[in-house]
Amino acid sequence: MTPHAAPRGVLGLDADELVACVACGLCLPHCPTYRVTGLELASPRGRIAAMRAVEEGALPDATFVRAIDECVQCRGCETACPASVPFGHLVETTRAALLTLPGARRGRRRRWRDTVERLGLRAIGHRRALRALSWLLLAAQRLHLVPRGAALPRLTARALRTRLSGSVEPGAADAWLFTGCVMDAWMRPTHQAALRVLAETGAGVALSPPGASCCGALHAHAGRLSDARRLARRVVRSMPGDAPIVVDSAGCGAAMRDYGRWLDDPGATAFATRVVDFSTFVAGRGAPALRRSETAVVVVDPCHLRHVQRAHTAVRDLLAPAYELRETDDEGLCCGAGGAYAVLQPGLAAEIRARKVAAIVRAGGPGCVVAAANPGCALHLRAAGVDARHPADLAADALGGPRG
Ligand code: SF4
Ligand code: SF4
Repeated sequence: MTPHAAPRGVLGLDADELVACVACGLCLPHCPTYRVTGLELASPRGRIAAMRAVEEGALPDATFVRAIDECVQCRGCETACPASVPFGHLVETTRAALLTLPGARRGRRRRWRDTVERLGLRAIGHRRALRALSWLLLAAQRLHLVPRGAALPRLTARALRTRLSGSVEPGAADAWLFTGCVMDAWMRPTHQAALRVLAETGAGVALSPPGASCCGALHAHAGRLSDARRLARRVVRSMPGDAPIVVDSAGCGAAMRDYGRWLDDPGATAFATRVVDFSTFVAGRGAPALRRSETAVVVVDPCHLRHVQRAHTAVRDLLAPAYELRETDDEGLCCGAGGAYAVLQPGLAAEIRARKVAAIVRAGGPGCVVAAANPGCALHLRAAGVDARHPADLAADALGGPRG
């Protein structure tokens, strides 16, 4: 990077957060992009040093933009960091700044990427647009126009037509189930399984209203913070009261538990305290009786459950009565899904995933069943041939009886 070519402080980062990094390097082994590339600039420490250089006047050139783009935002570095550097906040703020900094988005390829990202995020923020796109995707899959390895579910008309219903009206709910955007469009059978398991706990569950269709997590990841906040406000307004809000997507739950910071508002802070991951909620109510199965299940912790929500142990509490659980030996290293990362950085995402798949095979052998509590992780792993299932699906299977 060219030193002293831009005004100081162009990224708008918190100086205290930046200087908190003491460059010890303890985060490096926990960073998937560093593990794959071996490059300092693809490590948390290298990225923080580069952010600091830009804040001190270096040009945010193509090398810098690439270093930030290639971060999966898994936040494995935060868990490992003895100085509690809030890396997720630093990279989110940097991404937001890069969207508006003149000269920081050079190149036709990057402008094309930004356009695709913007249109994709706009679609997932609108329930009807996403539903329409899902039917188009189904048609494309039937015509074999979508590559088999793409990180997309195999859609069926039956799944797209599936109607969800809560067990009670919102006014009488013990809890809400947040259905979201992508999961609501593509993974309704998993929501159905979650509703079945929740019913077994005795909880009266209402569904989040259609107006609260997207939590804004993917928008925040991309640095589109005003869109993320607009969606977050809608979600907060849509579920009044004090009933817990159960979320069966680890990425959505992590974002919603951060709404207090996003919106800097006491109402949003109170809302965030009601958000709870599906497995935590079920285990907390006394998990339902599950039939013992002979199936071994390898547990893969989504980064936003393990490193951000720090709520990954409940998946084991929920599934252990029914399955023989196995652990990977990679200390929760990311699988490379990272929101839209698998689409925007397919090469790196595949290399990161290859390491995760190797860890899964070491734990459970080829063809083993995997529990992954985040739809993005499950889809990304399935695209590599892994039998990845949501803990709600596995728990519902162990209840016995008909699905849905
Ligand atoms: S968030 Fe993940 S990919 Fe990004 S620097 Fe931290 S460990 Fe590496
Ligand atoms: S572990 Fe924390 S303090 Fe050490 S290099 Fe990584 S981010 Fe910096």
